[in-house]
Formats: sequence, structure tokens, C-alpha cells
Amino acid sequence: MTTEEITNQLNFDREHILHPYTSMTDPLPVYLVKSANDVFIELETGEKLIDGMSSWWAAIHGYNHPVLNEAITNQLNKMAHMMFGGLTHEPAVKLAEKLIEILPENLTKIFFCDSGSVSVEVAMKMAIQYWYSKNKSNKKQFATIRSGYHGDTWNAMSVCDPETGMHHIFKESLPVQYFIPQPKSRFNDKWNPADIEPFKELFKKKHNNIAALILEPIVQGAGGMWFYHPQFLIEAKELCKKYDVLLILDEIATGFGRTGKLFACEHANVQPDIMCLGKAITGGYMSFAATICTNNIAEIISKGNPGVFMHGPTFMANPMACTVSLASIELLLNSNWQNNILHIEEKMTEWLSPALKFDSVADVRVLGAIGVLEMKNNVDIKKCQEEFVKQGVWIRPFGKLIYLMPPFIIKDKELETLCNVILDVAKNLN
Ligand SMILES: *Cc1c(COP(=O)(O)O)cnc(C)c1O
Repeated sequence: MTTEEITNQLNFDREHILHPYTSMTDPLPVYLVKSANDVFIELETGEKLIDGMSSWWAAIHGYNHPVLNEAITNQLNKMAHMMFGGLTHEPAVKLAEKLIEILPENLTKIFFCDSGSVSVEVAMKMAIQYWYSKNKSNKKQFATIRSGYHGDTWNAMSVCDPETGMHHIFKESLPVQYFIPQPKSRFNDKWNPADIEPFKELFKKKHNNIAALILEPIVQGAGGMWFYHPQFLIEAKELCKKYDVLLILDEIATGFGRTGKLFACEHANVQPDIMCLGKAITGGYMSFAATICTNNIAEIISKGNPGVFMHGPTFMANPMACTVSLASIELLLNSNWQNNILHIEEKMTEWLSPALKFDSVADVRVLGAIGVLEMKNNVDIKKCQEEFVKQGVWIRPFGKLIYLMPPFIIKDKELETLCNVILDVAKNLN
């Protein structure tokens, strides 16, 4: 592309194309990507950036992977899409078989849908329909913890953190849910039983109104990159059982190895009633998600009125998405993923920890292939981004957080560069 073409395209983009969470008329700058391969993003302007984000935590095997490319191309030559009402296909069956094999054993009924947010909507609708079918329609609200993130659609947004989820803007029209404080006991630290007390209080008083508790297991992602103690999840599950509340675990960010376990709920050995998967499910190839529930939920909903689950997206179980998901999961399972992620964890701990000495840094935490610097103040995204690109890396901070979620295939040299650049940039912030 010529310099003129690049300028023209960026100008057009700025004028007409909206980007996430930025001004509609005076947006933050964007960079024009030409291609991506392995852990490298190549810009039209020639720079090659080491990717520290895995395209929002999805591209776990890096980009342009030959195995995934082949799988999806083969499927493309058979059929790109097929309606799922009254029809099914091998890619859906094979993927479902694989998921059932690797998921907690109580999860057996799979609903394939379009995106993470939609899978959360589906999970919430399942919970509501479950209680409706049991003639307990007063159980229609949801409980969750502060600093969570579950997506941008309406009901998913209602269980996001009220401040960072911008409830103040939509307050008048959003359903009101129950929020309790974020558990403060850290993942690797001592468990403080005070963390679960607010839940006990809430459930004792309000369980008749609560359909489900929805949580991101262990790792809270876009709401603050916080890793909480597994005991919280264990006790939350016990309370759900005691008070007849369903447990929805949103594994959209954590599923498929990111935290060092295949699913983060394994850190606590807790099985949810409903689980949401997304992001890394396709290895980052396309938008796709799944909501999985127990036989019991399926049976209750099916015995109730109207006896069918009321959701059915146009692109349900898209065959290309199913195919590339299966290929990605097999690629992961056939790799030495546990060791790879443990290695990434060790190296990020070693290479990011020196930042603890900086005046600008409040906290450094690492879990699995997630490394986080929490700064004392909000980060100037535009300035940081320019510096990162100048130094050859792709890292996108938000709020006070500068973090890494690299593809699992990253090599030490590349990971060390990512960490060094972060340290260099963080040192000079205030
Ligand atoms: C990203 C994310 C979602 C939303 O997924 P989309 O595909 O962006 O709709 C929901 N929950 C969690 C935990 C996420 O990280």
C-alpha cells in the first residue's frame, strides 16, 4: 500500500467506522494492519509488532496457523453455513462430543451461539426459564460480584460492574441486579472468610428472588484483571446449593487453558449449572460461543410451558466456526499446553516483578498466561500505545491496567521483549 492509500484509508476509517469505547467523532488513533502471522502483527506502514493481547484473549495459537487454516478451508469448500433449525452437521456433532469430553461432567447440553455476550444472554434466559417452569417466576433477578464483566448486550451489561459497566447511563432501563463486594483474598494468599459474608447475608434475605449467581471463575477480566481465591468459588457454590440458586460460570475469558487449567473452575473443583464459553473457543478465528447446561436444567425447561427453550440465532452452530473450534481444541490438547502456560507464568513473574519497585506501580500479578501491572493512576492510552508501537509491541492498556495475554506459542525472546517494553513504559509513567 502506498503512503497515500494508507492515509486515505485511515481518514475514511476515522470518518465513518466506529471503534470500541472511543469517541464517535474524535476517536483515538488506530493502526492499519496488513496481516498477522505466528505472534506478529504486521502494519501497512511496515512495522512488525509482537502481539501481547491474542486479539482480545482469543488467538491462543497465534495467527495464520496452518492447521486451523486447513480445517476452515476444507469446511469452506463443503459449506460455509447451514440453518440449524431442522438440520444438523458433523462439525457441530464432533465439536459437541469433544466439549462434553473435556467439560465438567455434569454439563451435557450445548447451545451454540454467536458471541460471548449472546452466550451470557442465553445462560440468563435458561436460568429464568428454569424457574418459570418450576412455577417460581419470582426468582428472576441475578446476583454477582463487583468488578465483573460479562459482555455488552442488555442483560449481560446488567451484571457488569455498575461503575465500569456504565450503569449510570442506562440505569433507568437496565434490570436491577444484586451486587456484593469483590472478594479481596488473592489467588495465592490466605483465605479471608469475611469475603463470603456479604453473599450469606444476601442469599439469606433474597434467595426467593434470585434465579442465578453469575461469576467469572477465579479471574475477573475486563472489569479489573483480578485473581481471587478459589475458596470463594467453593463457598459460593455451597451457598447456591443451600439456597436453591443456580450457578452460572462465565468462562469466556478463562476457558481453554488461559489460567493454567483447561477451565478456571477446576482451580476450585466446582461444577456450575450453566457455563459460557467464547473468545478462545475458535482459537481467535471468528466470533462464536457456547452455553452449556446440565441435564436437569434441560429436563425442567422441557417439562414446563412452553416446553422449548426460547432462543435460536440465525448463525447458530455455524459449521466453519464449529470446525475451527474443534481443530483449535485438538491443537491445544495435543500440545504441551500445561507446561507451556506454566512456563509463561514463571517467565512473566520473573520479568514483570521488577516493576513492583516503581513509584507508578500499585501491584503486579501473574496467573497462567495472564500478566498484569496495576498502575496507581489511569494510563493515557494514546501516549502508551504510540510508545508500545514504537518499541515493536502490541499492548492495549485500559483504566489503570497494563497487561499481557500472549498467545500460548510465544517464545521466550518475544515474551521477554513484551515484558521489558512494559517495564520501560511503566517506569516513566506517574
Ligand atoms: C469478552 C467477554 C464477554 C463478552 O464476549 P463478546 O464475544 O465480546 O460478546 C463476556 N464475558 C467475559 C468474561 C468476557 O471476557
